[in-house]
Amino acid sequence: MASQTIIQKLRILADAAKYDASCASSGTAKKNSLGGKGIGSTEGMGICHAYAPDGRCISLLKVLLTNHCIFDCHYCINRKSSNVERARFTPQEVVDLTLNFYRRNYIEGLFLSSGIIRNSNHTMEQLVEVARILREEHDFRGYIHLKTIPEADPEIIHQAGLYADRVSINVELPTDSGLTRLAPDKNARQIEGALAKTTSDIVEAKDAKKRFRHAPRFAPAGQSTQMIVGADAATDSDIVGKASTLYNSFSLRRVYYSAFSPIPDASAVLPLKRPPLIREHRLYQSDWLMRFYGYKPGEIVQAAEKDGNLPLDIDPKLAWALKFRDAFPVDVNRASREQLLRVPGLGTTSVKRILAARRHRTLRLDDVAKLTLSITKVRPFIVTCDWRPTFLTDRADLRSMLAPKQEQLELFAA
Ligand code: SF4
Repeated sequence: MASQTIIQKLRILADAAKYDASCASSGTAKKNSLGGKGIGSTEGMGICHAYAPDGRCISLLKVLLTNHCIFDCHYCINRKSSNVERARFTPQEVVDLTLNFYRRNYIEGLFLSSGIIRNSNHTMEQLVEVARILREEHDFRGYIHLKTIPEADPEIIHQAGLYADRVSINVELPTDSGLTRLAPDKNARQIEGALAKTTSDIVEAKDAKKRFRHAPRFAPAGQSTQMIVGADAATDSDIVGKASTLYNSFSLRRVYYSAFSPIPDASAVLPLKRPPLIREHRLYQSDWLMRFYGYKPGEIVQAAEKDGNLPLDIDPKLAWALKFRDAFPVDVNRASREQLLRVPGLGTTSVKRILAARRHRTLRLDDVAKLTLSITKVRPFIVTCDWRPTFLTDRADLRSMLAPKQEQLELFAA
């Protein structure tokens, strides 16, 4: 390992970091311009995008400090029994990479995670050291997201929050039984304890800031977590329930869902096939419905099929509307914001536009069409002064009329 160059380490440790979700998308066709054909690549590792607290999309150097690990989580490519190429950065090497990338304008910040080396405290200290050097020795003002290790001493995790903009602690699996089975070295209570402590540190820091202008900042961009989807038997209903509990208990900024991907030399307790990527997408949509559209977790569960999973062919909002057709049609000229947000095809921006426009005139179907992306999906669920869907809302084949056309799957898609 001593002979590895920085570039070799970066290749290994940026690739190993791709399993940590820090942005809400995954799965795209693999393309590159190696061989001189075309320009650009979807395969390169190392730089990912995330949303800053002010809503900007920023580029982050996403890397592990090391992919050595003393734990043996079955779903993880870096587990100690895995036969992968290993590498390890020193904190100073990560600092140098971050500063060099930053100066070249490649990135606006750093997303740093790590396998566990020696013990949890030692690893957490190394992660904190990267952030400390950047902030204290280089006055680095870019974005820093640190993954924290719940088994580490709370005081060291606290240090992470003093330097990072965002900290995250992965709950890993939606159920305690799944965690015990697939991550035997981890403990659900310990993870929840670390989440709770960080929540209270964030609240205290905000409170202190109100009273003392120079009070230290603590994870001003909040904390987030990640759940792996499809590695255990948990259904979408279980996952939605768990996400809702996490949002309510720990005021999380985000729950990320990461579709489990089969790894080389996979443990026999894991499924052989990855879940369809669209499942991850449906979970993000349901997360969005809970956070911005006023849906309760129980309502998302109502949209699920008998097996507890959300339908894959249609989005959860449309699934709910088709099951509860008596809530429609809604009159776009009179309905409340909450009712309009339930209409399939109306997003928060369209609803805002409708509410603003109807102050000045009575809306016709054409007006709504101009304010939305697609009137086809909206039409069966609304009434305007010149449109009433009559029997359309109750048609037995409405689902097939509105479901997007199935696309031919790519043979070699990721
Ligand atoms: S602690 Fe578990 S999930 Fe994290 S790197 Fe080690 S084996 Fe992977």
